[in-house]
Amino acid sequence: MSNVPESKDFIRKIVEDDLASGKHQAIQTRFPPEPNGYLHIGHAKSICLNFGIAREYGGKCNLRFDDTNPSKEEDEYVESIQEDIQWLGFQWDNKYFASDYFDQLYAWAVQLIKEGKAYVCDLSGEEISKTRGTLNQPGVESPYRNRSVEENLDLFTRMKNGEFPDGSHTLRAKIDMASNNMNFRDPVMYRIMHATHHRTGDTWCIYPMYDFTHGESDSIEHITHSLCTLEFENHRPLYDWFCENLGIYHPRQIEFARLNLTYTVMSKRRLLQLVRENIVRGWDDPRMPTISGLRRRGYTPEAIRRFCEKIGISKVESLVDLQLLESCVRDHLNATAPRVMAVLDPLKVTLTNWEPGKVEMLEAVNNPENPDDGTRQIPFSGELYIERSDFMEVPPKGYFRLRPEGEVRLRWGYFIKCEEVVKDADGNVVELRCTYDPETRGGQSPDGRKVKGTIHWVSAAQAIDAEVRIYNNLLTEPSLTDLPGDFLDYINPNSLEVREHCKLEPSLASCEPGSRFQFERIGYFCCDPDSTADRKVFNRTVTLKDSWAKIQKKG
Ligand code: ATP
Ligand code: MG
Repeated sequence: MSNVPESKDFIRKIVEDDLASGKHQAIQTRFPPEPNGYLHIGHAKSICLNFGIAREYGGKCNLRFDDTNPSKEEDEYVESIQEDIQWLGFQWDNKYFASDYFDQLYAWAVQLIKEGKAYVCDLSGEEISKTRGTLNQPGVESPYRNRSVEENLDLFTRMKNGEFPDGSHTLRAKIDMASNNMNFRDPVMYRIMHATHHRTGDTWCIYPMYDFTHGESDSIEHITHSLCTLEFENHRPLYDWFCENLGIYHPRQIEFARLNLTYTVMSKRRLLQLVRENIVRGWDDPRMPTISGLRRRGYTPEAIRRFCEKIGISKVESLVDLQLLESCVRDHLNATAPRVMAVLDPLKVTLTNWEPGKVEMLEAVNNPENPDDGTRQIPFSGELYIERSDFMEVPPKGYFRLRPEGEVRLRWGYFIKCEEVVKDADGNVVELRCTYDPETRGGQSPDGRKVKGTIHWVSAAQAIDAEVRIYNNLLTEPSLTDLPGDFLDYINPNSLEVREHCKLEPSLASCEPGSRFQFERIGYFCCDPDSTADRKVFNRTVTLKDSWAKIQKKG
């Protein structure tokens, strides 16, 4: 047993007890996504739990695609799910599909029919829900409930053979229409669906429901601990009922609270809608909480795993602050991302006393947090760009950046003094004419004179052009629970801001999509695959400011 987190959650305690008591010799878990969309950060919680427990206790974890609804499932999703799990740093021991078990499930359904525990019902879906009753009122038994075994076997075979249209018949478990648990009121086991399945093609036109598939699949794979989210808590008796009545290996289902994040849409159905309606640019849009969106945004697997560790596992539903996720990636990038200089809103600076045409190379530290990252050379010349916001003609008190007649330190460079402000016909500042002090190379004051402000810059002639995409929350509200209207009413119209005329230091000319940097004084940024040979595109992963740390201090 290695690397078990220090404070163990209730599931890890159960696992340890089961190993200690000898109930299980080895742990077997599974992660069971339906391939009907891309994985999101909520799935990462389940992945870290299932794969994490297997890893920590020397057990195994399967990847099982829960593919019982052919109308929504696609190979594209199967591929993306595998890529995302591996990117997060996990590898399954076996890969299975629930559809691998269709023959076995069918045989088990026949077994229950023969034992008088399942029947073919001719009620429509609507009629079934109408006759299911309510929490306070028992349901009404279906008029087809007492069909003979022979008739049920005949009808079920004909359902399978495609003799009936969609929705005309279902196979239902015969349990208890008056049960306190709604899931026991003769749940549907099979429905007719003339649809092409992504793997079994047109072999089947009846498909098993989740409740008749999940426990049985867990059983086939000898899952020891079947971990799922709380909404399945009242499905557990049915999970148990099927295993017991089929007389098969009976895994233990344990529920934990799902992850909810502020300002975040966390449902595949809604995420699919955002993609289909082009509200975002795809499943991997950096505003999406999908694993592929977070990856494109610049998140690291380490940061996501750390986040999952921090939120922990419990039985209590909660809403996690998005800033906790952001602080995890900020911490990891602070330790690992090389520092570079980038100017997002360039203002031209001309050094009037610089030798025309001269270019000097200055040494810059790549990451002060990590001396092993070494240094690089950056060009300095008489024509620079600084950030427009780093100059103010009439600054307020406490502004230590550049002002008329004022002096400022250029990061890794020299002190410069603003001698003249050049404006266009409309009065906009278009250029600053400055002098530099040759005695201040490397930013050192030669005579003890104080220069409080340090600003970043790039040398104009060598700088490369870039587009920088700044992302804000996708939602305007921290939580949509109990809010009126459609969730699309709460989409932030300013979730994407594009800065088209950015200037980057030339060391970024060769960077690959996916590489991550700290743009000094601005934030963490990741090179986007939209980059071309002569124009880089960068995504802002997260700002430098850690409002989470502040919140925690206050709290
Ligand atoms: P969604 O509600 O987003 O469509 P889902 O539960 O339908 O998600 P599945 O593909 O069935 O998606 O999920 C695979 C596994 O991931 C399940 O075991 C599910 O419980 C878990 N999971 C899904 N969403 C979350 C979440 N927000 N937090 C924790 N686990 C989750
Ligand atoms: Mg689901």
